Amino acid sequence: MIKTIKYSKDVDLEKELARSQFSYDDVNETVESILKDVKARGDKALIEYTEKFDGVKLENLEVTEEEIQKAFDTIDKDLMEVIQYSHDNIKKFHEKQVRNDFLIRQENGVVLGQVVNPIEKVGLYVPGGTAAYPSTVLMNAVPAKIAGCKEIVMVTPPTKDGTILPSLLVAAKISGIDRIFKVGGSQSIAALSYGTETIPKVYKIGGPGNIYVAMAKKMVYGEVSIDMIAGPSEVLIIADESADPVHTAADLLSQAEHDKLAACILVTTSEKLANEVSRELEKQLKELPREEIARTSIETQGRIVIVDNMDDAVFVSNYVAPEHLELAVENPFELLPRIKNAGSIFMGHNTPEPIGDYLAGPNHTLPTSGTAKFSSPLSVDDFVKKSSFIYYSKQGLEEVKDKVIKFAENEGLTAHARSVSKRFEK
Ligand code: NAD
Repeated sequence: MIKTIKYSKDVDLEKELARSQFSYDDVNETVESILKDVKARGDKALIEYTEKFDGVKLENLEVTEEEIQKAFDTIDKDLMEVIQYSHDNIKKFHEKQVRNDFLIRQENGVVLGQVVNPIEKVGLYVPGGTAAYPSTVLMNAVPAKIAGCKEIVMVTPPTKDGTILPSLLVAAKISGIDRIFKVGGSQSIAALSYGTETIPKVYKIGGPGNIYVAMAKKMVYGEVSIDMIAGPSEVLIIADESADPVHTAADLLSQAEHDKLAACILVTTSEKLANEVSRELEKQLKELPREEIARTSIETQGRIVIVDNMDDAVFVSNYVAPEHLELAVENPFELLPRIKNAGSIFMGHNTPEPIGDYLAGPNHTLPTSGTAKFSSPLSVDDFVKKSSFIYYSKQGLEEVKDKVIKFAENEGLTAHARSVSKRFEK
Protein backbone atom coordinates (compact mmCIF):
# COMPACT_ATOMS: atom_id res chain seq x y z
CA MET A 1 0.00 0.00 0.00
CA ILE A 2 1.32 3.47 -0.89
CA LYS A 3 1.91 5.82 2.04
CA THR A 4 -0.30 8.93 2.13
CA ILE A 5 0.68 12.07 4.02
CA LYS A 6 -1.05 15.39 4.60
CA TYR A 7 1.24 18.32 3.78
CA SER A 8 1.65 21.20 6.20
CA LYS A 9 4.55 23.53 6.92
CA ASP A 10 5.60 21.19 9.76
CA VAL A 11 6.09 18.17 7.52
CA ASP A 12 9.78 17.34 7.06
CA LEU A 13 9.86 16.92 3.27
CA GLU A 14 13.50 15.86 3.25
CA LYS A 15 12.62 12.86 5.38
CA GLU A 16 9.16 12.11 3.99
CA LEU A 17 10.16 12.31 0.33
CA ALA A 18 13.69 10.90 0.62
CA ARG A 19 14.78 9.16 -2.58
CA SER A 20 16.92 6.06 -2.75
CA GLN A 21 20.25 6.11 -4.49
CA PHE A 22 22.31 3.41 -6.14
CA SER A 23 25.07 2.15 -3.87
CA TYR A 24 28.34 2.32 -5.78
CA ASP A 25 30.64 1.05 -3.04
CA ASP A 26 30.08 -2.63 -3.85
CA VAL A 27 31.36 -2.31 -7.42
CA ASN A 28 34.21 0.12 -6.83
CA GLU A 29 37.07 -2.37 -6.85
CA THR A 30 35.72 -4.50 -9.70
CA VAL A 31 35.31 -1.49 -11.98
CA GLU A 32 38.70 -0.03 -11.11
CA SER A 33 40.47 -3.27 -11.96
CA ILE A 34 38.57 -3.63 -15.27
CA LEU A 35 39.51 -0.07 -16.26
CA LYS A 36 43.19 -0.68 -15.52
CA ASP A 37 43.18 -3.98 -17.36
CA VAL A 38 41.61 -2.55 -20.53
CA LYS A 39 44.04 0.37 -20.44
CA ALA A 40 46.95 -2.08 -20.29
CA ARG A 41 45.77 -4.88 -22.60
CA GLY A 42 43.28 -3.24 -25.00
CA ASP A 43 41.20 -5.49 -27.27
CA LYS A 44 42.49 -8.69 -25.69
CA ALA A 45 40.97 -7.66 -22.34
CA LEU A 46 37.71 -6.56 -24.05
CA ILE A 47 37.32 -9.96 -25.69
CA GLU A 48 37.95 -11.77 -22.40
CA TYR A 49 35.48 -9.64 -20.43
CA THR A 50 32.85 -10.07 -23.13
CA GLU A 51 33.25 -13.83 -22.85
CA LYS A 52 33.04 -13.65 -19.05
CA PHE A 53 30.07 -11.27 -18.68
CA ASP A 54 28.10 -11.68 -21.91
CA GLY A 55 28.84 -15.34 -22.54
CA VAL A 56 30.23 -15.06 -26.06
CA LYS A 57 33.75 -15.26 -27.48
CA LEU A 58 34.05 -12.75 -30.29
CA GLU A 59 36.59 -12.67 -33.11
CA ASN A 60 35.72 -9.12 -34.16
CA LEU A 61 34.38 -6.37 -31.94
CA GLU A 62 33.09 -4.11 -34.70
CA VAL A 63 29.65 -4.56 -36.31
CA THR A 64 30.03 -5.03 -40.08
CA GLU A 65 28.02 -3.48 -42.94
CA GLU A 66 26.58 -6.96 -43.67
CA GLU A 67 25.26 -7.21 -40.12
CA ILE A 68 23.61 -3.81 -40.46
CA GLN A 69 22.06 -4.81 -43.78
CA LYS A 70 20.76 -8.02 -42.20
CA ALA A 71 19.19 -5.98 -39.39
CA PHE A 72 17.30 -3.87 -41.97
CA ASP A 73 16.18 -7.05 -43.76
CA THR A 74 14.93 -8.81 -40.65
CA ILE A 75 13.50 -6.06 -38.44
CA ASP A 76 9.73 -5.93 -37.92
CA LYS A 77 8.75 -3.33 -40.53
CA ASP A 78 6.17 -1.67 -38.25
CA LEU A 79 8.86 -1.22 -35.60
CA MET A 80 11.20 0.29 -38.21
CA GLU A 81 8.50 2.81 -39.14
CA VAL A 82 8.04 3.74 -35.48
CA ILE A 83 11.81 4.21 -35.05
CA GLN A 84 11.92 6.44 -38.14
CA TYR A 85 8.89 8.45 -36.91
CA SER A 86 10.45 8.92 -33.49
CA HIS A 87 13.81 9.87 -35.05
CA ASP A 88 12.16 12.56 -37.18
CA ASN A 89 10.35 14.09 -34.18
CA ILE A 90 13.51 14.08 -32.04
CA LYS A 91 15.44 15.68 -34.91
CA LYS A 92 12.85 18.42 -35.43
CA PHE A 93 12.82 19.30 -31.73
CA HIS A 94 16.58 19.27 -31.26
CA GLU A 95 17.27 21.34 -34.38
CA LYS A 96 15.67 24.25 -32.51
CA GLN A 97 18.44 23.98 -29.88
CA VAL A 98 21.29 24.81 -32.25
CA ARG A 99 23.28 27.81 -31.04
CA ASN A 100 24.68 30.40 -33.38
CA ASP A 101 28.08 32.05 -33.34
CA PHE A 102 27.98 35.76 -32.50
CA LEU A 103 30.10 38.83 -33.22
CA ILE A 104 30.42 42.21 -31.53
CA ARG A 105 32.10 44.97 -33.60
CA GLN A 106 33.27 48.15 -31.96
CA GLU A 107 33.91 51.46 -33.74
CA ASN A 108 37.62 51.42 -32.81
CA GLY A 109 38.10 48.25 -34.88
CA VAL A 110 37.86 45.79 -32.01
CA VAL A 111 35.97 42.59 -32.85
CA LEU A 112 34.82 40.09 -30.22
CA GLY A 113 33.01 36.88 -30.80
CA GLN A 114 32.04 33.39 -29.85
CA VAL A 115 32.22 30.35 -32.13
CA VAL A 116 30.47 27.08 -31.45
CA ASN A 117 32.19 23.86 -32.45
CA PRO A 118 31.03 20.26 -32.12
CA ILE A 119 32.93 17.88 -29.85
CA GLU A 120 34.71 15.94 -32.57
CA LYS A 121 34.53 12.41 -31.18
CA VAL A 122 31.78 11.10 -28.93
CA GLY A 123 30.96 7.66 -27.58
CA LEU A 124 27.48 6.43 -26.78
CA TYR A 125 26.72 3.58 -24.39
CA VAL A 126 23.54 1.66 -25.14
CA PRO A 127 22.47 -0.89 -22.51
CA GLY A 128 22.15 -4.47 -23.65
CA GLY A 129 21.69 -7.04 -20.95
CA THR A 130 18.08 -8.02 -20.48
CA ALA A 131 16.30 -5.61 -22.83
CA ALA A 132 16.88 -3.51 -25.97
CA TYR A 133 16.45 0.24 -25.89
CA PRO A 134 16.34 1.66 -29.44
CA SER A 135 14.83 4.87 -28.00
CA THR A 136 18.08 5.37 -26.04
CA VAL A 137 20.05 5.18 -29.29
CA LEU A 138 17.90 7.88 -30.87
CA MET A 139 17.79 10.19 -27.85
CA ASN A 140 21.58 10.22 -27.53
CA ALA A 141 22.71 10.05 -31.13
CA VAL A 142 20.36 12.59 -32.73
CA PRO A 143 21.54 15.62 -30.70
CA ALA A 144 25.19 14.59 -31.30
CA LYS A 145 24.54 14.36 -35.03
CA ILE A 146 22.78 17.75 -35.11
CA ALA A 147 25.67 19.27 -33.13
CA GLY A 148 27.93 18.13 -36.00
CA CYS A 149 30.12 15.61 -34.12
CA LYS A 150 32.48 14.10 -36.71
CA GLU A 151 32.80 10.65 -35.21
CA ILE A 152 29.97 9.08 -33.23
CA VAL A 153 30.67 5.57 -31.99
CA MET A 154 28.30 3.30 -30.11
CA VAL A 155 29.12 0.46 -27.74
CA THR A 156 26.61 -2.11 -26.56
CA PRO A 157 26.92 -5.64 -25.13
CA PRO A 158 26.30 -8.48 -27.60
CA THR A 159 23.68 -11.17 -27.11
CA LYS A 160 24.85 -14.71 -26.34
CA ASP A 161 25.06 -15.53 -30.06
CA GLY A 162 27.39 -12.59 -30.64
CA THR A 163 24.89 -10.34 -32.42
CA ILE A 164 23.27 -6.98 -31.68
CA LEU A 165 19.47 -6.78 -31.84
CA PRO A 166 18.19 -5.43 -35.19
CA SER A 167 16.21 -2.61 -33.53
CA LEU A 168 19.44 -1.16 -32.07
CA LEU A 169 21.37 -1.42 -35.33
CA VAL A 170 18.55 0.12 -37.35
CA ALA A 171 18.13 2.99 -34.83
CA ALA A 172 21.90 3.54 -34.90
CA LYS A 173 22.04 3.67 -38.68
CA ILE A 174 18.97 5.93 -38.98
CA SER A 175 20.46 8.38 -36.51
CA GLY A 176 23.82 8.48 -38.27
CA ILE A 177 26.12 6.62 -35.87
CA ASP A 178 29.44 5.96 -37.62
CA ARG A 179 30.78 2.82 -35.93
CA ILE A 180 29.26 0.23 -33.59
CA PHE A 181 31.19 -2.09 -31.26
CA LYS A 182 29.99 -5.21 -29.48
CA VAL A 183 31.21 -4.52 -26.02
CA GLY A 184 29.43 -3.39 -22.86
CA GLY A 185 29.88 -2.76 -19.15
CA SER A 186 32.82 -0.92 -17.61
CA GLN A 187 35.18 -2.47 -20.15
CA SER A 188 33.47 -0.52 -22.95
CA ILE A 189 33.73 2.75 -21.01
CA ALA A 190 37.44 2.06 -20.53
CA ALA A 191 37.84 1.41 -24.26
CA LEU A 192 36.17 4.70 -25.18
CA SER A 193 38.24 6.60 -22.61
CA TYR A 194 41.71 5.22 -23.39
CA GLY A 195 41.26 3.81 -26.89
CA THR A 196 42.24 0.26 -27.93
CA GLU A 197 43.54 -1.25 -31.17
CA THR A 198 40.03 -1.18 -32.69
CA ILE A 199 37.98 1.23 -30.56
CA PRO A 200 38.85 4.92 -30.89
CA LYS A 201 39.37 7.12 -27.84
CA VAL A 202 36.60 9.72 -27.68
CA TYR A 203 36.34 13.07 -25.92
CA LYS A 204 32.91 12.58 -24.35
CA ILE A 205 30.84 9.55 -23.33
CA GLY A 206 27.06 9.58 -23.01
CA GLY A 207 24.25 7.13 -22.41
CA PRO A 208 22.73 5.21 -19.53
CA GLY A 209 23.70 1.82 -18.15
CA ASN A 210 23.77 -0.33 -15.05
CA ILE A 211 25.86 0.30 -11.94
CA TYR A 212 29.10 -0.98 -13.58
CA VAL A 213 28.66 1.46 -16.44
CA ALA A 214 27.75 4.37 -14.16
CA MET A 215 30.70 3.71 -11.84
CA ALA A 216 33.09 3.49 -14.79
CA LYS A 217 31.78 6.82 -16.14
CA LYS A 218 32.35 8.41 -12.72
CA MET A 219 35.92 7.07 -12.66
CA VAL A 220 36.98 8.15 -16.15
CA TYR A 221 35.52 11.64 -15.78
CA GLY A 222 38.44 14.01 -16.24
CA GLU A 223 40.18 11.74 -18.74
CA VAL A 224 37.07 12.30 -20.88
CA SER A 225 33.84 14.22 -20.33
CA ILE A 226 30.56 12.46 -19.56
CA ASP A 227 26.92 13.45 -19.99
CA MET A 228 25.64 12.72 -16.47
CA ILE A 229 25.25 9.98 -13.91
CA ALA A 230 21.59 9.09 -13.82
CA GLY A 231 19.96 7.97 -10.58
CA PRO A 232 16.76 5.88 -10.32
CA SER A 233 13.80 7.04 -12.41
CA GLU A 234 11.20 9.42 -10.92
CA VAL A 235 7.78 10.86 -11.61
CA LEU A 236 5.82 13.44 -9.67
CA ILE A 237 2.21 14.08 -10.65
CA ILE A 238 0.40 17.26 -9.62
CA ALA A 239 -3.31 16.48 -9.88
CA ASP A 240 -6.52 18.34 -9.10
CA GLU A 241 -10.02 16.88 -8.88
CA SER A 242 -10.24 16.82 -12.70
CA ALA A 243 -7.66 13.99 -12.87
CA ASP A 244 -8.74 10.43 -13.59
CA PRO A 245 -7.62 8.02 -10.82
CA VAL A 246 -7.17 5.10 -13.23
CA HIS A 247 -4.88 7.12 -15.50
CA THR A 248 -3.03 8.65 -12.55
CA ALA A 249 -2.29 5.22 -11.05
CA ALA A 250 -1.21 3.87 -14.45
CA ASP A 251 1.20 6.80 -14.89
CA LEU A 252 2.75 6.28 -11.44
CA LEU A 253 3.25 2.61 -12.23
CA SER A 254 4.87 3.34 -15.60
CA GLN A 255 7.85 4.69 -13.64
CA ALA A 256 7.62 2.23 -10.73
CA GLU A 257 8.14 -0.74 -13.06
CA HIS A 258 11.60 0.62 -14.06
CA ASP A 259 13.34 -0.06 -10.80
CA LYS A 260 12.71 -0.98 -7.16
CA LEU A 261 14.42 2.31 -6.30
CA ALA A 262 12.19 4.41 -8.63
CA ALA A 263 10.32 7.25 -6.90
CA CYS A 264 6.64 7.89 -7.75
CA ILE A 265 4.85 10.74 -6.01
CA LEU A 266 1.31 12.08 -6.39
CA VAL A 267 0.66 15.57 -5.03
CA THR A 268 -3.02 16.41 -5.04
CA THR A 269 -5.52 18.94 -3.75
CA SER A 270 -8.24 16.26 -3.81
CA GLU A 271 -8.53 13.81 -0.92
CA LYS A 272 -11.09 11.86 -2.95
CA LEU A 273 -8.57 11.39 -5.79
CA ALA A 274 -5.88 10.39 -3.29
CA ASN A 275 -8.06 7.57 -1.92
CA GLU A 276 -9.13 6.39 -5.37
CA VAL A 277 -5.54 6.35 -6.70
CA SER A 278 -4.37 4.41 -3.66
CA ARG A 279 -7.03 1.71 -4.31
CA GLU A 280 -6.39 1.73 -8.05
CA LEU A 281 -2.64 1.22 -7.56
CA GLU A 282 -3.35 -2.02 -5.68
CA LYS A 283 -5.65 -3.21 -8.45
CA GLN A 284 -3.28 -2.35 -11.32
CA LEU A 285 -0.15 -3.64 -9.56
CA LYS A 286 -1.62 -7.15 -9.65
CA GLU A 287 -1.99 -6.91 -13.44
CA LEU A 288 1.66 -6.07 -14.13
CA PRO A 289 4.26 -8.62 -15.24
CA ARG A 290 6.85 -6.55 -13.33
CA GLU A 291 4.66 -6.43 -10.21
CA GLU A 292 7.47 -7.20 -7.77
CA ILE A 293 9.69 -4.34 -8.95
CA ALA A 294 6.79 -1.86 -9.17
CA ARG A 295 5.35 -2.89 -5.79
CA THR A 296 8.69 -2.43 -4.01
CA SER A 297 9.06 1.02 -5.55
CA ILE A 298 5.49 2.06 -4.63
CA GLU A 299 5.67 0.67 -1.09
CA THR A 300 9.08 2.11 -0.23
CA GLN A 301 9.56 5.42 -2.09
CA GLY A 302 5.97 5.93 -3.34
CA ARG A 303 3.97 8.75 -1.69
CA ILE A 304 0.63 10.49 -2.02
CA VAL A 305 0.86 14.01 -0.63
CA ILE A 306 -2.45 15.77 0.04
CA VAL A 307 -2.15 19.55 -0.08
CA ASP A 308 -4.63 22.35 0.73
CA ASN A 309 -4.08 24.29 -2.48
CA MET A 310 -2.09 24.53 -5.73
CA ASP A 311 0.48 26.87 -4.15
CA ASP A 312 1.51 24.08 -1.80
CA ALA A 313 1.47 21.53 -4.65
CA VAL A 314 3.83 23.71 -6.68
CA PHE A 315 6.04 24.26 -3.62
CA VAL A 316 6.38 20.50 -3.00
CA SER A 317 7.07 19.81 -6.67
CA ASN A 318 9.73 22.53 -6.94
CA TYR A 319 11.29 21.14 -3.76
CA VAL A 320 11.44 17.60 -5.19
CA ALA A 321 12.67 18.81 -8.63
CA PRO A 322 11.46 15.61 -10.31
CA GLU A 323 12.91 14.04 -13.45
CA HIS A 324 9.39 13.75 -14.92
CA LEU A 325 6.56 16.03 -13.82
CA GLU A 326 2.98 15.49 -14.94
CA LEU A 327 0.50 18.36 -14.59
CA ALA A 328 -2.78 16.42 -14.46
CA VAL A 329 -4.85 19.53 -13.88
CA GLU A 330 -7.65 21.43 -15.58
CA ASN A 331 -5.37 24.18 -16.92
CA PRO A 332 -1.74 23.05 -17.12
CA PHE A 333 -0.57 26.13 -19.03
CA GLU A 334 -1.60 28.32 -16.10
CA LEU A 335 0.60 26.24 -13.79
CA LEU A 336 3.61 26.02 -16.12
CA PRO A 337 5.24 29.41 -15.33
CA ARG A 338 5.29 28.49 -11.63
CA ILE A 339 7.26 25.28 -12.21
CA LYS A 340 10.92 26.10 -11.57
CA ASN A 341 12.60 22.71 -11.15
CA ALA A 342 11.71 19.72 -13.36
CA GLY A 343 13.43 17.68 -16.10
CA SER A 344 10.50 17.28 -18.48
CA ILE A 345 6.93 18.49 -17.94
CA PHE A 346 3.95 16.54 -19.27
CA MET A 347 0.96 18.81 -19.61
CA GLY A 348 -2.69 17.91 -19.14
CA HIS A 349 -4.74 14.75 -19.11
CA ASN A 350 -3.68 13.38 -22.51
CA THR A 351 0.09 13.46 -22.08
CA PRO A 352 1.27 10.38 -20.21
CA GLU A 353 5.01 10.29 -19.53
CA PRO A 354 5.82 7.38 -21.91
CA ILE A 355 4.94 9.66 -24.85
CA GLY A 356 8.13 11.55 -23.98
CA ASP A 357 10.12 8.36 -23.45
CA TYR A 358 9.60 7.32 -27.03
CA LEU A 359 8.54 9.76 -29.64
CA ALA A 360 7.22 13.24 -28.82
CA GLY A 361 10.60 14.82 -29.63
CA PRO A 362 12.11 16.28 -26.43
CA ASN A 363 14.95 14.26 -24.93
CA HIS A 364 14.22 11.49 -22.44
CA THR A 365 17.68 11.68 -20.81
CA LEU A 366 16.81 13.89 -17.87
CA PRO A 367 18.26 15.10 -14.57
CA THR A 368 17.33 12.80 -11.64
CA SER A 369 17.70 12.88 -7.84
CA GLY A 370 16.82 16.58 -7.54
CA THR A 371 19.53 17.69 -9.98
CA ALA A 372 16.83 19.41 -12.05
CA LYS A 373 17.47 22.26 -9.57
CA PHE A 374 20.65 23.01 -11.52
CA SER A 375 20.78 20.91 -14.69
CA SER A 376 18.86 20.28 -17.88
CA PRO A 377 17.74 17.49 -20.21
CA LEU A 378 20.34 16.14 -22.63
CA SER A 379 20.49 18.47 -25.64
CA VAL A 380 22.58 19.63 -28.58
CA ASP A 381 24.46 21.81 -26.04
CA ASP A 382 25.95 18.65 -24.53
CA PHE A 383 27.75 17.91 -27.80
CA VAL A 384 29.24 21.32 -28.54
CA LYS A 385 31.76 23.57 -26.91
CA LYS A 386 32.42 27.24 -27.41
CA SER A 387 35.55 29.25 -28.12
CA SER A 388 35.65 32.99 -27.71
CA PHE A 389 37.82 35.19 -29.92
CA ILE A 390 39.24 38.67 -29.53
CA TYR A 391 40.64 40.96 -32.23
CA TYR A 392 42.16 44.32 -31.22
CA SER A 393 43.14 47.06 -33.63
CA LYS A 394 46.16 49.26 -32.86
CA GLN A 395 43.77 52.05 -31.83
CA GLY A 396 41.74 49.70 -29.63
CA LEU A 397 44.84 48.44 -27.85
CA GLU A 398 46.16 51.94 -27.31
CA GLU A 399 42.88 53.00 -25.72
CA VAL A 400 43.07 50.27 -23.05
CA LYS A 401 46.81 49.81 -22.60
CA ASP A 402 47.07 51.76 -19.35
CA LYS A 403 44.15 49.87 -17.85
CA VAL A 404 45.71 46.47 -18.67
CA ILE A 405 49.07 47.59 -17.26
CA LYS A 406 47.36 48.81 -14.09
CA PHE A 407 45.68 45.43 -13.60
CA ALA A 408 48.85 43.49 -14.32
CA GLU A 409 50.96 45.56 -11.94
CA ASN A 410 48.34 45.19 -9.23
CA GLU A 411 48.51 41.41 -9.65
CA GLY A 412 52.32 41.49 -9.64
CA LEU A 413 52.55 40.08 -13.16
CA THR A 414 55.20 42.24 -14.76
CA ALA A 415 55.50 40.19 -17.95
CA HIS A 416 51.79 40.65 -18.53
CA ALA A 417 52.21 44.43 -18.33
CA ARG A 418 55.26 44.34 -20.62
CA SER A 419 53.49 42.31 -23.32
CA VAL A 420 51.29 45.38 -23.77
CA SER A 421 53.79 48.20 -23.08
CA LYS A 422 56.43 46.69 -25.43
CA ARG A 423 54.04 47.23 -28.34
CA PHE A 424 54.13 50.98 -27.75
CA GLU A 425 57.91 51.37 -27.36
CA LYS A 426 59.64 53.13 -30.25
P1 NAD B 1 23.95 -2.84 -19.26
O1 NAD B 1 24.30 -2.86 -20.70
O2 NAD B 1 23.97 -1.54 -18.58
O3 NAD B 1 24.95 -3.81 -18.48
C1 NAD B 1 25.34 -5.05 -18.96
C2 NAD B 1 26.84 -5.20 -18.74
O4 NAD B 1 27.14 -5.08 -17.35
C3 NAD B 1 27.40 -6.53 -19.16
O5 NAD B 1 27.71 -6.50 -20.52
C4 NAD B 1 28.64 -6.60 -18.28
O6 NAD B 1 29.73 -6.12 -18.98
C5 NAD B 1 28.37 -5.74 -17.09
N1 NAD B 1 28.26 -6.58 -15.90
C6 NAD B 1 27.23 -7.34 -15.53
N2 NAD B 1 27.54 -8.01 -14.39
C7 NAD B 1 28.81 -7.67 -14.05
C8 NAD B 1 29.70 -8.02 -12.97
N3 NAD B 1 29.32 -8.86 -12.03
N4 NAD B 1 30.92 -7.45 -12.94
C9 NAD B 1 31.32 -6.57 -13.89
N5 NAD B 1 30.51 -6.21 -14.94
C10 NAD B 1 29.28 -6.75 -15.01
O7 NAD B 1 22.52 -3.56 -19.15
P2 NAD B 1 21.59 -3.84 -17.89
O8 NAD B 1 22.33 -4.54 -16.81
O9 NAD B 1 20.37 -4.47 -18.44
O10 NAD B 1 21.22 -2.40 -17.31
C11 NAD B 1 20.62 -1.41 -18.08
C12 NAD B 1 20.39 -0.20 -17.20
O11 NAD B 1 20.16 0.95 -17.98
C13 NAD B 1 19.20 -0.34 -16.27
O12 NAD B 1 19.58 0.13 -15.00
C14 NAD B 1 18.15 0.54 -16.91
O13 NAD B 1 17.22 1.05 -15.98
C15 NAD B 1 19.02 1.62 -17.50
N6 NAD B 1 18.38 2.34 -18.60
C16 NAD B 1 18.23 3.69 -18.47
C17 NAD B 1 17.68 4.43 -19.50
C18 NAD B 1 17.56 5.93 -19.36
O14 NAD B 1 17.28 6.60 -20.29
N7 NAD B 1 17.81 6.50 -18.20
C19 NAD B 1 17.28 3.82 -20.67
C20 NAD B 1 17.47 2.46 -20.79
C21 NAD B 1 18.04 1.73 -19.75
